[in-house]
Amino acid sequence: MREIQIGGLVPFTTIDYPGKLAAVLFLVGCPLRCAYCSNPHLLQVGDGPYDPEKTFDWIKSRTGRLEAIVFSGGEALMQGDATIEYMKRVRELGFAIGLHTNGFYPDLLKRAAPFVDWAGIDYKATRAKYESLVGNGIAYDQMSKSLDFWISTGKDFEVRVTCDPRFITKDDLMEIVQDCAGRGVKKIAIQKYQPHFEDAEHATTPEAREQFFNNTELRNYINSKFESVVWRE
Ligand code: SF4
Repeated sequence: MREIQIGGLVPFTTIDYPGKLAAVLFLVGCPLRCAYCSNPHLLQVGDGPYDPEKTFDWIKSRTGRLEAIVFSGGEALMQGDATIEYMKRVRELGFAIGLHTNGFYPDLLKRAAPFVDWAGIDYKATRAKYESLVGNGIAYDQMSKSLDFWISTGKDFEVRVTCDPRFITKDDLMEIVQDCAGRGVKKIAIQKYQPHFEDAEHATTPEAREQFFNNTELRNYINSKFESVVWRE
């Protein structure tokens, strides 16, 4: 079996797994090409610069200091069995396993689920605008299947919506949150879009990025729909 390809590592974080001290592994490879991707160096599957066994030994050395290891990317599930086997080994050390996923691989998510304790699932846009944002025509349906499956597990998770004003309007955000609430999502994070590079053709203004966060009516509505709403500004 192919070894896991690790492209990056954050050794300590308090924000990537709710309520737990964690480290994050960034796995290489992603089937999507989101317009706002801040990790373009992680999109191609290739030799990750981190040696998997040395990284495993480092994770082992964090026993008692960290509580969770988060698998992020890229799209962590794109590496299939290599990711799942590694999750299994890390979990056996006693760490909780977190997964950040764009939901593109519902079948792999099912196979990984026994080894994942918490997931952050991206819901990137309305169905109508999904393809224009992520560059893939089946991504919405895949995410939708993953979301429904994860809800059916009863395991903890949050849905994450990044409000990129080039692809999301306030009405779109309402549509997304209503869909999530209707499916039974309990926790949602509304994230501010932070441009990582200049888009000369479709530049965004601070006001456009702020519009989702300074609208009291919208905020109150969203806050009323979920048990937990995190506003990541
Ligand atoms: S899913 Fe994440 S890693 Fe993949 S292209 Fe989109 S933002 Fe980048």
